[in-house]
Amino acid sequence: MLARYRVFFCCLLSVLAVVIALANLPAKAQAGEIKLVIDGMPVLPDVPPVIKNNRTLVPLRVISEGLGAQVGWNASTRTVTVQAPGQEIKLVIGSSTATVNGKSVKLDAPAEIIKNRTFVPLRFIGEALGAEVHWDQNSRTVTISSGRAEVTAITVRAEVGSEVVAIKGTGRLTGSAIQDGPQVVLKLPKAILKMVPGAVPVDSGLIREIRVAATGTEQEPGVEVVIELKEVGPFSLSSTPGELQVALPHRVTSLEYAQVEGGEVLRVATTGRVAYTVQQLGAPDRLVIDLQGTILGASASRELNADTLLTERIRVGEGAGGVRIVVDQRRVTKYRVTAMPAGLEIHLAAQIIGLSYQSGPGGGEVRIRSTGPVGLRELRLTDPERLVLDFPGVVLNMAEPVLKVNDTTVREVRAGQFAVDPDLARVVVELSAYVSHEISAGDTPGEIVVKVISSPVAGRYIAVDAGHGGREPGAVGPSGLMEKDVNLDIALRLASLLRTAGARVYMIRSGDETIDFRVRPDLANNEGVEAFISIHCNSFTDATKRGTEVYYYKDGRDGQKLAEAIHAALIPVLGLPDRGLRTADYNVLRYTKMPAVLVEVAFISNPSEEKLLADPAFREKAAQGIFNGILSYFRIK
Ligand SMILES: [Zn+2]
Repeated sequence: MLARYRVFFCCLLSVLAVVIALANLPAKAQAGEIKLVIDGMPVLPDVPPVIKNNRTLVPLRVISEGLGAQVGWNASTRTVTVQAPGQEIKLVIGSSTATVNGKSVKLDAPAEIIKNRTFVPLRFIGEALGAEVHWDQNSRTVTISSGRAEVTAITVRAEVGSEVVAIKGTGRLTGSAIQDGPQVVLKLPKAILKMVPGAVPVDSGLIREIRVAATGTEQEPGVEVVIELKEVGPFSLSSTPGELQVALPHRVTSLEYAQVEGGEVLRVATTGRVAYTVQQLGAPDRLVIDLQGTILGASASRELNADTLLTERIRVGEGAGGVRIVVDQRRVTKYRVTAMPAGLEIHLAAQIIGLSYQSGPGGGEVRIRSTGPVGLRELRLTDPERLVLDFPGVVLNMAEPVLKVNDTTVREVRAGQFAVDPDLARVVVELSAYVSHEISAGDTPGEIVVKVISSPVAGRYIAVDAGHGGREPGAVGPSGLMEKDVNLDIALRLASLLRTAGARVYMIRSGDETIDFRVRPDLANNEGVEAFISIHCNSFTDATKRGTEVYYYKDGRDGQKLAEAIHAALIPVLGLPDRGLRTADYNVLRYTKMPAVLVEVAFISNPSEEKLLADPAFREKAAQGIFNGILSYFRIK
């Protein structure tokens, strides 16, 4: 395509010089006198212009010299000669005809002498000297400008919506612009180049290069500015005093749509900062983004593939007002627009759109369906036992956000908009009992699976026996750690895990009480518990002896199975030497009527194991190991 545009422009005279000069005006200027301004400078001739027979007559010498011309006077022939580059004017006082460059020109009034000065009609000055003349009745001012202009600098500045090439100078900056492909050529006839010719440094998304050169001759000077665009595009010309502007509208260079964590993002890259509006419209639901005054670059796509649960497609169009992007929506959601130095980012919030629950062997699965990938923070809270899943930046869009489950694993699943601005969607899984859970990605994008492991001890009644207590400290370690205190702490931790998992717990002692070991089996028998766990620490005269032991009473009852399960679970958790699964006829094992196990966690008589037994983290591990053994026993049972 070879488009040619021709645009004419003109520039107003700078009024700055007038203001400065007016401040220095001599006081003798009288009211009602006709003022004279030449090339922006007020001039005070000794004989001011006059109006005669409705014509304004102006002093020839003052004006000619003001415009840079030479004036000669031949008294014998009463002839005035005005000489300027490429220009010669001769006129005779009293004659209505003048000679301009050898040609006769008719004056609408003859030249005459007023107070010893040659006066000519104002209009003749314009015609003969190529100057622009203007008479303002209100201020009684004659304005004359030579049409000469100087180009002093060329800059490129970024404005909202466009890049502007500013040709700065003085005088009347006039000329024309021609576009030929990606090249815009500005010609400023009569302008004088007052800057270094050649390439002008530019850092622009639209312009490849700008070159400036002086053209023409000394008599007929001119300036040519060539703007090489990176891509063919429109431009507009305008002017302000001292500046001529070529405005190039910003261009959309690329469009991109992507699913990101927490939503979807439409990225619009432009060659600079643009003005925009975003509107949410309905029927059909769509988001309309208008980039005012921009054009669509050749490389930018007209249609974007965006087939998601939120978005159906994205259309891109270009009109007189600029580029318009339409996001056809499957679901209306919150959006956020971020303006950047070169583009826009429109973020559409992901939504939670579905909840489901399925129970299976060993537990239940909660499925949370969202429109795309989401970020997740999880939290386990007690009282009641529940899992809390927070989705930052996500919006809830569901008809029925509560699922009543009420099985042995899960009571209820509910979703809610916990916060807005910033948004936070929350899913709460209220549990019947807690053992453990896993969170994983589902089969479809945006699906999250919360697997809740069921509790085999839910509703079970279990006795936990902390050995010794009160006046009976049990064994005492080399640094003074007492067995009864360690036993009680591990027992309380185990009880807490069991209760969380939905078991009822009978504590033989829950404080520092003295309870005879011989009455302990009957306490449990009378309660009707289903399992009995006694917790002790080992001790021996040889301080090097160390490790873990698990005891049961050999009577063919389920005590062996329970002991096996606890032994298998506890040994790998503690990591101490395995001193084996053993039998003994301790009272608490022999006289209890339910499966009963006694655990010797470690040797309090061994200095390094005493140190471990004093550590709360080790005690928690011991409780967790015993707990896992109880779970596996009841799971198989
Ligand atoms: Zn003991």
